[in-house]
Amino acid sequence: MEQSSSGPTELAVGDTNAVGRMLGLLGDEWTLLVVQQALLGATRFAEFKTRLPISNSVLTRRLQSLTREGLLERRVYQTNPTRSEYLVTPRSRSLWPVLLSIWEWERHWVPDHAERLPGMRHDACGADFAPLLMCGSCGEAAGDKDVVARWGPSGSWPRSMPVASTRRRSEADQLDASADLFPQTMSVLGNRWGFALLVAAIVGMSRFTDFQSQLGAPPGSIADRLSIFTANGVLAASDNRYRLTEKGRALFSVLVAALQWAQRWFRAPEGPAVILTHRVCGKRFGAVLVCDQCAEPLTGAQVAAV
Ligand SMILES: [Zn+2]
Ligand SMILES: [Zn+2]
Repeated sequence: MEQSSSGPTELAVGDTNAVGRMLGLLGDEWTLLVVQQALLGATRFAEFKTRLPISNSVLTRRLQSLTREGLLERRVYQTNPTRSEYLVTPRSRSLWPVLLSIWEWERHWVPDHAERLPGMRHDACGADFAPLLMCGSCGEAAGDKDVVARWGPSGSWPRSMPVASTRRRSEADQLDASADLFPQTMSVLGNRWGFALLVAAIVGMSRFTDFQSQLGAPPGSIADRLSIFTANGVLAASDNRYRLTEKGRALFSVLVAALQWAQRWFRAPEGPAVILTHRVCGKRFGAVLVCDQCAEPLTGAQVAAV
């Protein structure tokens, strides 16, 4: 059954929560890249193929799963032979803060990649800018140390485990190593266990055995991800613990944007999976991205690559 593209998905009582849906859906090498190209105007199969180093079969499967999950809407624009195009929906359009945060993180933390990334211009003020994370309740800038995360009524590790939205996966699904889009982000987030591990690290988990037992992940997957994260400098290992580096903690804004998106579109009847509180004001933390040049809140339509 295809997900309606307009309203949120109502989850069943006791089922996988918004975090699990987020990890399963966005923790994939290709999903964010296909959505990014759709937001930049690609609609037809051939356009995605031109813009991404993706095989026909992988692109076909991602377009199907994204349509099933309500991130794209398939529209037939020609019959005999039938040709379809894939349009963004409110659900995928609202991923722009995630993509913007990824863009900023790559630009700031992956120096050899930064020169190939375009800058960002804020149309409202005309300046080249960087997005800043702000608390929607009090209007103050916020970082990972200012925000406390705790489980909400539908939150727990077992309910947050990723469910893959792509049913069949194969070696061919892996991103080509020469693909040079958001290389480090994809190595961190583009894998559901990697993404889950990052969430756990951000809430303070640091031991291999905890990652394995709490997340219930295959030990090989945890070991793989830990070695990639330490090689990338997202985690540092010492005293048998893996702790986030400054670079790793900077992924907080990506995570908050993804979480906010997930909790908007996947609603558990018990209530939210994660509740964020801003230490400074003591109120619920709703992330708002603002322009560091003019301090106005950003909207997806006002951000242009330059
Ligand atoms: Zn606040
Ligand atoms: Zn601005």
